[in-house]
Amino acid sequence: MGGGHLSGTKVAIKDNICTKDMPTTCSSEMLRNFTPPFDATVVTLLHNSGAQIIGKTNCDEFGMGSLNIHSIHGPVVNPWKSFSPDDRPRSAGGSSGGSAAAVAAGLCDVSLGTDTGGSVRLPASYCGIVGLKPSYGLLSRWGVVSYSDSLDCVGVLARTVDDVQKVFMTLNHHDLKDPTSLPSSVRAKASNMLSVQTFSRWDGDSSSLSGLRIGIPQEYFPTEMQPSVLHPIRSLLKELRGLGATLVPVSLPSTSYALSAYYVIASAEASSNLARFTGVEYGTYVDPPPGADRTKAAHVYAYSRSKGFGREARKRILLGTYALSADAFDNYFLQAQRIRKLVKCDFDDIFAVPNVLSSFQSQATSQPKVDVLIHPSAIRTAPPLELVSDSLDAYVQDALTVPASLAGLPALSVPAGTADDGWPVGMSVVGQWGCDDLVIRVGEVVH
Ligand code: GLN
Repeated sequence: MGGGHLSGTKVAIKDNICTKDMPTTCSSEMLRNFTPPFDATVVTLLHNSGAQIIGKTNCDEFGMGSLNIHSIHGPVVNPWKSFSPDDRPRSAGGSSGGSAAAVAAGLCDVSLGTDTGGSVRLPASYCGIVGLKPSYGLLSRWGVVSYSDSLDCVGVLARTVDDVQKVFMTLNHHDLKDPTSLPSSVRAKASNMLSVQTFSRWDGDSSSLSGLRIGIPQEYFPTEMQPSVLHPIRSLLKELRGLGATLVPVSLPSTSYALSAYYVIASAEASSNLARFTGVEYGTYVDPPPGADRTKAAHVYAYSRSKGFGREARKRILLGTYALSADAFDNYFLQAQRIRKLVKCDFDDIFAVPNVLSSFQSQATSQPKVDVLIHPSAIRTAPPLELVSDSLDAYVQDALTVPASLAGLPALSVPAGTADDGWPVGMSVVGQWGCDDLVIRVGEVVH
């Protein structure tokens, strides 16, 4: 172990990140008995810096869900104690619900989660802790079980922004084993842009935000929002203004299409990624019943797959396979990719820092430029577990987190206070690609 800079830090790891000393089940029957022969790169980096890995955490099956209710280990109960004595057990959020609950309950100092469409930020918001989804391509995904490759990010959860920052710095390295990990030259280019565009106006000093321009996107306050979520958000914005920040109302017009596009893309990629779990090459094998035609591979796979995958995973596989079929490809998959592009352009249009990964040229006539965006992380506080089901409601929980995922942007959820029901409300700080440092610094002021 040695005496690295995380020496003594207790870390828990989401169960879709490979660990060679502990099982990695992805909360799925399919991998119930699987212990990988290797550690994910992020786990190796934690070991090398002296962190103590204390265990694996519950999650939605393969990261699919928003409430941590789709798991062979059962749902995760939110450890937050509200002031109301008749409060019923609430969801910890998902899919990294176990990672958020472990931190919130004080079982560990930090945890790793994965965030494909909000799975670190939503549980952080529901449990009253800090959760970072870094820019796509900064933290290695080698050894992380893929759900949707073009969206999956490893994220960090902790009680303080400082702890999140320390672990992020430890993991933020180019990894040759991950083809989507970005090289140092691209990272350096983004941080130079940030220095020139933003840190020349705001020096990162937490006692004054003078020079910092914060965008408030109007589309992130939908009518479905629980009204009392807005009370702590309003007082926080007032405080930021008091510290000298300029608050700028902005518009991201493609936001309302993002959720549908996200579920088409994520399910399509999931259907392809999960194809490897046949019970033969990977996953639990279930013997077909007597009389089944064992000469046909598809028949043999079908038994293992219908027993091994839970309801939600099977639903995504069917939806994704359909979106990729010849009949639906143009109307669903390609259309979703077009929307993804529009969402990205919306962000590029309002950030002062140019996107080093994008060819989009912001229009001279367009909106005022901002350094970061701030908005509520979720449309409500944690829902009571007895009320949650696999209805449409569960998918709407991600409405405010998926746009940054589609665009690959860094987003940090920090606790902003409590709503009238006594449950925590999270506020998200979002920045241009590669501006994780800025997002973290602003988060430090907000927290
Ligand atoms: N709730 C979203 C989904 O089910 C996001 C999940 C995630 O970020 N892993 O796909």
